[in-house]
Amino acid sequence: MSSYFLTTAIDYANGEPHLGHAFEKIGADCIARWHRLKGDDVWFLVGMDEHGQKVAQAAATEQLSPQAYTDLIAARFEAMWNRLGISRDQFIRTTASEHKAGVQELIERIFERNPDDFYERAYEGLYCVGCEAFKQDGEIVDGKCVLHPTRTLERVQERNWFFRLSRYQDFLSDLLQRQPQFLQPESRRNEILGLLRQGLEDISASRSRFSWGVPFPRPISTGEVQTTYVWFDALPNYWTATRFAGSRAPWPAQLHVIGKDITRFHCVIWPAMLHAAGLPLPERVWAHGFIYLGGERFSKSAGVKLDLQEAVDRFGADAFRYFLLREVPWDADGNFSWERFEERYVSDLADGLGNLASRSLAMLEKYRAGVVPIDETRTPLDETGEDVLARFATAMDALDLRGAAETTWELVGRANGYIVETAPWALAKAGREAELDAALGALARCLARLTAMVMPFMPTKAETLWLHLGAPDGVQRRAWEIATRPAVGGWRSSKPESLFPRPQLPPAP
Ligand SMILES: [Zn+2]
Repeated sequence: MSSYFLTTAIDYANGEPHLGHAFEKIGADCIARWHRLKGDDVWFLVGMDEHGQKVAQAAATEQLSPQAYTDLIAARFEAMWNRLGISRDQFIRTTASEHKAGVQELIERIFERNPDDFYERAYEGLYCVGCEAFKQDGEIVDGKCVLHPTRTLERVQERNWFFRLSRYQDFLSDLLQRQPQFLQPESRRNEILGLLRQGLEDISASRSRFSWGVPFPRPISTGEVQTTYVWFDALPNYWTATRFAGSRAPWPAQLHVIGKDITRFHCVIWPAMLHAAGLPLPERVWAHGFIYLGGERFSKSAGVKLDLQEAVDRFGADAFRYFLLREVPWDADGNFSWERFEERYVSDLADGLGNLASRSLAMLEKYRAGVVPIDETRTPLDETGEDVLARFATAMDALDLRGAAETTWELVGRANGYIVETAPWALAKAGREAELDAALGALARCLARLTAMVMPFMPTKAETLWLHLGAPDGVQRRAWEIATRPAVGGWRSSKPESLFPRPQLPPAP
């Protein structure tokens, strides 16, 4: 059993969870469940980024203290993750005392191992409160931040701690060239290699202008204690998580799942920080794309809205998970549309998997009193099933979640065809019992394989399917083994209520 520690980006606590947040958590959850299915010892970390000026501002707007405000937001995110079946093992909040202590320890480790990596420098520039960053000329249009044209840029001068990121340029180039899997997909790796070729500038590590954060462990020369700046506050969460009481997270992480807009933080700044601190690097960073609605990206600042609760309400959490992962490639951008959602729901779930399960289980009940025949005849449907199972595993290991779902539904289509070809009702009528046993046995084995493959995508529906197939207790831990050798003969099955009810009945003929 190998350990598998995966993380998602921590979400910034200045608003409600939206579709972009949900997509990332659902994809990561699918990967976590796949590794559990294979028998790995999984630790799945999700959390909140709760410090910074924008959080303090949002709290002030709500007339709450920053801590009370982030408590409220964190509870909303957790409620949504519960609803979506995000099977996290740990929910980290950067306001936790363990995290703060961990951040300071990481910084001290760098001071001890590489004393020249932090230095003091006076800095003057135009500061955007929206970005919490000083802006360069190229990011300013008509005297305003291009991302926040309604806000006024402030001219700010202060002395800060700086981190000598420029020192790590060769280390990072080597890393990305020698370990191509460190950052995937490939297009994202090329972007970072291009960035590295342009040269790295040192980055500030502390700020004097706000206090809602972790105190930087060493004062500047004036004696002033500053606040740790964003990357040194947020990025270490993946490592500090391992130091919380009750956490079984190992270090390094096997996988960081992040959005494609934050690869620079995770593949430049974060590995440099870890290397400076003498800590091992994560094995793999995966940068997923964005979901668009009518061509526009979901985010708080863009103001593109789709009510997440409403989207989940439409066909339930499992169907929503399936739709996003089947529709949006895990390595690129995709679109959300209500029309596509309904089309996929009807074709893949109601008419596809739902129809297959209900017909197969109904025939087992009708012709065999709900007892799966003990028949080991290897049918063409088994051959397809074995092939699909193997290709599913390959796709999942490559993090091709959409490809894995697509492959699974090849078997759904094949099995519905198999019912038509073998026509079990005709076999029953003609009294051809052995052939009927073979067909019903093949369908039950097929459902077992499908249920295992569906588990990472639709965990609740998969549980219902196992139950109605009559699988033994504890099937969750043995599901992949069962799918690989589906000895389902003798299981006592039952017909479920409609798994995926059709949204509306077609008009009567
Ligand atoms: Zn800005």
